[in-house]
Amino acid sequence: MYGAHDVRVEDVPDARIIEPTDALVRVTRACICGSDLWPYNSMPAAPIGNRMGHEFVGIVEDIGADVRSVRKGDLVVAPFLWSDGTCEFCQQGLHSSCLHGGRWGGTELDGGQGEALRIPQADGTLVRLPVGPDHALMPSLLTLSDVMGTGHHAARCARVRPGVIAAVVGDGAVGLCGVIAARRLGADQIILLGRHPDRIRLARQFGATDVVSERGDAAIERVRALTGGLGAHSVLECVGHGEAVRTALNIARAGGAVGRVGVPQEATTPDVQKTFFANVTIAGGPAPVRAYMHELMPDILEGRLEPGRVLDRVTTIDGVPDGYRAMNDREAIKVMIKF
Ligand SMILES: [Zn+2]
Repeated sequence: MYGAHDVRVEDVPDARIIEPTDALVRVTRACICGSDLWPYNSMPAAPIGNRMGHEFVGIVEDIGADVRSVRKGDLVVAPFLWSDGTCEFCQQGLHSSCLHGGRWGGTELDGGQGEALRIPQADGTLVRLPVGPDHALMPSLLTLSDVMGTGHHAARCARVRPGVIAAVVGDGAVGLCGVIAARRLGADQIILLGRHPDRIRLARQFGATDVVSERGDAAIERVRALTGGLGAHSVLECVGHGEAVRTALNIARAGGAVGRVGVPQEATTPDVQKTFFANVTIAGGPAPVRAYMHELMPDILEGRLEPGRVLDRVTTIDGVPDGYRAMNDREAIKVMIKF
């Protein structure tokens, strides 16, 4: 990405192993992320492009001398951040705060929307998939790299448990995965706040029981009306815009919890006093999806979860610039790249 609305497909130097803890992965499937649309709309023009992509599945082509957990030929999924798996935070399951981890892409590292990557900290990062690279479940397994794990994190931080009323703010891929996660954790009623008919349809199939398409105060009123005037026990904030955050905080009931996974686009949190006096817990952040892969994978392999249905368009590497456009124009929920 060279700037807003400027995505190019170019050759870069081949990915290669540098450290003994590295692996070399050839990508078989990748995605464009909703978060890639922030720079797509706002990045200042730059002389050197940023390599993009942080969600991918691929085959291990080579490993460094110290790598133990994967072998050449393994099919692996990578989380949207790399991590060592051994530091204080990784041991607590908070791989997104790894002391020796980092982000894919940029000007220095390889990105997932490319043919191959050098994988730092391969043992702490990659997770083997027990299927072949063209398996029918591949779209769903690919969502373990970000959106399914992120939706699950929102649900966990919002303390979804059997019997609760959950509300999901946002009908993007993460919000839809939040619906899946809320149902999986036992929510009785799941209220989706969203406006796009195709996404609402999918959300209902995933388990949403109510849909609120109003905005602002009207949305807050509507959720209150659907919850006996009390609000939701668990609110999953999956957008990050000021209005979405404000809505999320105002639809949580007293003693409830808001799980935030939308990257906040504003410096301050609205209505802090109201949430203070209502004892509303505000939790969340970047999802440690690496910690959730082993928990969620069996449900996908055994057909109980189908998050791959959010990937409603497939393209090749040459179609990536148009894939960004299609997601930005809301023509596609989420685009998968098949190599
Ligand atoms: Zn770590």
